[in-house]
Amino acid sequence: MIKKEFKAESKRLLDLMINSIYTHKEIFLRELISNSSDAIDKMYYKALTDEDLTFNKDDYYIKIIADKDSKTLRIVDTGIGMTKKELEDNLGVIAQSGSLAFKKENEIKDGFDIIGQFGVGFYSAFMVADSVTVISKAFGSDEGYKWESTGADGYTIEPYDKEAVGTEIILKLKEDSEDEKYQDFLEEYRLKSIIKKYSDFIRYPIKMDIATSRPKEGTEEEYEDVVEEQIVNSMVPMWRKNKNELTTEDYDNFYSEKRYGFDKPLKHIHISADGAVRYNAILFIPEKMPYDFYTKDYEKGLELYSSGVLIMNKCPDLVPDYFSFVKGMVDSEDLSLNISREMLQHDRQLKIIAKRIKEKIKSELQSLLKTEREKYEDFYKNFGRQLKYGVYSDFGQNKETLQELLLFYSSKEKKMTTLEEYVDRMKEDQKYIYYASGDSVEKIDKMPQTELLSEEGYEILYFTDDVDEFSIRMLGAYKEKEFKSVSSGDLGIEEKDKKEEEVEKQDSKEVFAFMKEALQDKVKDVRPSKRLKNHPVCFATDGELTIEMEKVLNAMPN
Ligand code: ADP
Ligand code: MG
Repeated sequence: MIKKEFKAESKRLLDLMINSIYTHKEIFLRELISNSSDAIDKMYYKALTDEDLTFNKDDYYIKIIADKDSKTLRIVDTGIGMTKKELEDNLGVIAQSGSLAFKKENEIKDGFDIIGQFGVGFYSAFMVADSVTVISKAFGSDEGYKWESTGADGYTIEPYDKEAVGTEIILKLKEDSEDEKYQDFLEEYRLKSIIKKYSDFIRYPIKMDIATSRPKEGTEEEYEDVVEEQIVNSMVPMWRKNKNELTTEDYDNFYSEKRYGFDKPLKHIHISADGAVRYNAILFIPEKMPYDFYTKDYEKGLELYSSGVLIMNKCPDLVPDYFSFVKGMVDSEDLSLNISREMLQHDRQLKIIAKRIKEKIKSELQSLLKTEREKYEDFYKNFGRQLKYGVYSDFGQNKETLQELLLFYSSKEKKMTTLEEYVDRMKEDQKYIYYASGDSVEKIDKMPQTELLSEEGYEILYFTDDVDEFSIRMLGAYKEKEFKSVSSGDLGIEEKDKKEEEVEKQDSKEVFAFMKEALQDKVKDVRPSKRLKNHPVCFATDGELTIEMEKVLNAMPN
């Protein structure tokens, strides 16, 4: 048998690739399964376009077989197979993609899921295997062939007796090293978890022989160990299903299967978009706050799939920080991936998707607020802080998105209120939206500064979260009504303010001068006030910062 040499540049490329493209070795299985899926897709396509052919779904599958004795892993498929020439062209020339050629030849555009395009995925097998054998028989051909290679030094091809059409890939796994336990790729749990992680939504069954124990026939207590062929993947992606066919329970199950959280989702959002960028997404608003949500360990992001294959576990660019609590996934066939299929090449499509998702989350939250107030308030207890941070960050850029979603405790309603509701209730002559900052509702209730306003029937928003006042400063105003702290010097209630001035002129001047001197630089001024009812004294500010804001700033590490 003559050994054919890889071309020199191919050798280098293969070396480079094996060692540098992929960040995780387990990716090899995703790549080989994707190829098998493509091969079956091609059969399916042939059947669609050829009247003499029928495609019987049951005949098409991918099977993963691990054998610990020979330290081999086999990936078997009943796809279209490869001729001798195709073996040479596709597996002997790096960066040659038979699948891409197939798509072009057949002018396949929409609705088809063929994954291959770069012509390098196959070689990822060499990350975990010392030698790779491919036995294949092409559809419509009488002969099978065996392709074999140990990596950079070339490959051999010889005829091989293979009965069924399809391909079988045999990996002789590397011995364990300090860095990587290659032999683990023969363990059932490991294989299952890799398949679930990357290839769960491959549309054809991925089978494995699974050892289980079951009750022995005719007995009740005795168990016997048997090997059963099982389908490991879920096949039909939930997000491709019709929304009308799915129940809340289906979404709840998906949420827990995906381990988005241990709680139940408060709300799910299912998007199927057919516009400039085609994508499907299933998003969740969790019911409970993830335990690490307000720590730096918390990572935001959505799972990103390309045509049903997982590309990224947590793609942070898909959700803005202020919606970082949103869990879920996005699948799109329109993404341009880089060669490792681990990253995106352009983020134009991603940006479009992210923008839509942001708008959708906003409108869903708004409708929750309108139609299921109690649920929304539960949500707000957990994640409201995040929304307020959102208003505050990026110099208030998100205020349009977020201001309608804010809630504050109201003195008048004695419950949470939106800014819109507050403004709707405002008195005719009222200039400002009043707020008071403090540690708790109880403490604010006792604040002397609130007395006059309350007595005059003005509503006050209670800011008990340290971010409240900062975010409201970013808003500046809501529906052209400015926000005003109850402790600011000018409350915009003209009569009262004037009266204060008058009082000041009176002869108690000396007392105040004395007090001021006694307090020295602790206060800027001491003034009489009409604002007080039951309290002898209160603080007021007339600068940029209120006392509460100063407190927060002082508590921040320098
Ligand atoms: P890509 O999948 O991006 O095209 P690969 O390196 O993974 O690149 O595979 C190269 C080519 O080899 C594929 O395009 C396909 O033509 C062929 N091939 C690989 N695996 C199989 C398989 N199991 N059955 C049929 N053809 C295959
Ligand atoms: Mg491939």
